Amino acid sequence: MIYLDNNATTRPAPEVREAMACSLEADFANPSSPYGPARKVVRAMAEARESVAALVNASPGEVVFTSGGTEANNAVLAMARSLKPDGTRVIISSVEHASVLAPAGCLAAQGLEVVYLPVNGDGNLDLDRLTESLDDRTALVSVMMANNETGIMMPLEEVCSRAAVYGIPVHSDAVQAAGKSPVSFADSGVCLLSLSMHKLHGPKGIGVLLVGDGLETEPWLTGGGQERNRRGGTENVAGIVGAGVAARLALDSFPEAPARMRRLRDRFEQRVLGRVSGVRVVGAVGPRLPNTSLLLVDGVEADAVISLLDLEGICCSSGSACAAGSHETSHVLTAMGFQPGPGALRISLSRESTAEEVDLVADRLPAIVDQLRNAGPAF
Ligand code: PLP
Repeated sequence: MIYLDNNATTRPAPEVREAMACSLEADFANPSSPYGPARKVVRAMAEARESVAALVNASPGEVVFTSGGTEANNAVLAMARSLKPDGTRVIISSVEHASVLAPAGCLAAQGLEVVYLPVNGDGNLDLDRLTESLDDRTALVSVMMANNETGIMMPLEEVCSRAAVYGIPVHSDAVQAAGKSPVSFADSGVCLLSLSMHKLHGPKGIGVLLVGDGLETEPWLTGGGQERNRRGGTENVAGIVGAGVAARLALDSFPEAPARMRRLRDRFEQRVLGRVSGVRVVGAVGPRLPNTSLLLVDGVEADAVISLLDLEGICCSSGSACAAGSHETSHVLTAMGFQPGPGALRISLSRESTAEEVDLVADRLPAIVDQLRNAGPAF
């Protein structure tokens, strides 16, 4: 198998699997229990918290473990009202992940105004619209660090400095950025940040919401008072241990792994652009994650390309795994002003990806595209 769909998920690292197996076998005590084995589990979780904090330059006390990026994002939107009780507006970008868009939609249904910041064809966020929309009634701004479909990075520093004029808290979904691009919670200006560990060779079902020191938030799961009273429920200890190892490995892989992914990504794009006509790279001009390449291929359907690649044991996607199979142009491409038509093929690399793999896919694509174009018009 050639796996080039690492924005959907990554293979858990062997060290992660080993640490989790060990935790499940030997350290099964409930961390809230009053005896030695439980204290060992507490220490293991504290170590993991430190590693996750180190990956994103945060303090361990700011780390709240969640069931994933979706929970972290949902929790932030749900707390918008409590962040500013007299707030009537939430501002998000129009290219957010569904786990931000959907709860924002719920807030709108409850009467809050939701402003969707537009992006242009290069994915650049409309900062003027942000400035126009900011006022004392704004409760929250949520702008992702990097987009999962295109890899395009958002101007977060600028977003934060504009929001800071009104003292408005900024959240960022860094699920795709962490592990591929340096992230510094301490320096970013955001006070809430979401992570998901399965995107960086950790386990599925474990994520993090970083809550900045001094930010008062209500618990989003009430019960046992775990996670400093923010998220009740017995902790996913093995997941947390695996998250810690994944974070440490990701940090150790900097800066070599992202630089290597960028070289492979550029090599892939050059090879494809040199051999297939009617191909565009989305977001090629601005800052982009080093591992992501979204290609628009004229005259073919993305699903057909993906199926033919799948027959050859090559895994890639048309964009978000959550929207896969929906045949509709993604909300991200729609927001960027692309008309339905060209097939969108996303390849996303990991630190495990090799030159042989990307070359093989780049070499197979011309024949696959020819075959589909010769079979007749896609639309
Ligand atoms: N945010 C972004 C940008 C994502 O790409 C994803 C997953 O694809 C999520 C949030 C959701 O994370 P999780 O799968 O951990 O719920």
